Amino acid sequence: QGKLYVVATPIGNLSDISRRAIEVLQQVDWIAAEDTRHTKQLLNALAINQKLISLHEHNEQQRSEQLLEHLQSGQNGALVSDAGTPLINDPGYFLVKTLRQANLEVVPVPGPSAVITALSAAGLPTDRFCYEGFLPARKSKRLLALQALANEPRTLVFYESPHRLMDCLHDMQEAFGAQRELVVARELTKKFEQFVEGELQQVMGYFSDNSDKLRGEFVLMLKGAELVADKGQTRLEVDQLLEVLLAQ
Ligand code: SAM
Repeated sequence: QGKLYVVATPIGNLSDISRRAIEVLQQVDWIAAEDTRHTKQLLNALAINQKLISLHEHNEQQRSEQLLEHLQSGQNGALVSDAGTPLINDPGYFLVKTLRQANLEVVPVPGPSAVITALSAAGLPTDRFCYEGFLPARKSKRLLALQALANEPRTLVFYESPHRLMDCLHDMQEAFGAQRELVVARELTKKFEQFVEGELQQVMGYFSDNSDKLRGEFVLMLKGAELVADKGQTRLEVDQLLEVLLAQ
């Protein structure tokens, strides 16, 4: 039986590809990729010629059965996504689950992921954190999701698209208050990499004054809620919680 290698690829800077990733991508029998055209460019840059099989959110279930058969027949394969670590807000969960259930070996080949890259340089507590991925696109749902996190003491991490960033910051201000500390990491590992930090209202002010910076890729990190033993505060927390539960 063959193995599936889950291979992380760069999130912007090609030099972040690991030596082991290159070796594995050269040696396997095929590479399952989220977008074969995108991965083709990466492989061209690395001078690797490989068979590519598409695996994306719309064909993952059916594809997983085929890939399982390939692996059972003794082939080795690799899974990559467009950028960063597969399965981290990218396809692959169903495939990995299917293979593990069939007792096939799944081998991680670690490398970049935007969440860890952003946290490593943000200066927020990282001993514990909550990775929340993308918030719901609809405002009402987004606000509910944020309100449910208002008292979370761990650092919160979100992915966000540039066109929703301002709306998202606005809702965060509503859910967490204007003073909550935030770090926005933009275009990590790329030419225009930038960290914007401050209280929510300051960061919102920065992006409304600098709308040319509202492009590229973003990770949002918020300091967790301070635990306050004060009775008035506790009352407020219960009220907030009730509000969220009632709304649901
Ligand atoms: N699998 C990827 C990973 O391991 O980070 C994440 C894929 S997810 C579909 C894409 C999102 O990740 C972007 O919308 C952005 O929020 C974040 N992201 C990816 N690359 C980034 C970068 N270079 N700088 C900032 N955020 C990035």
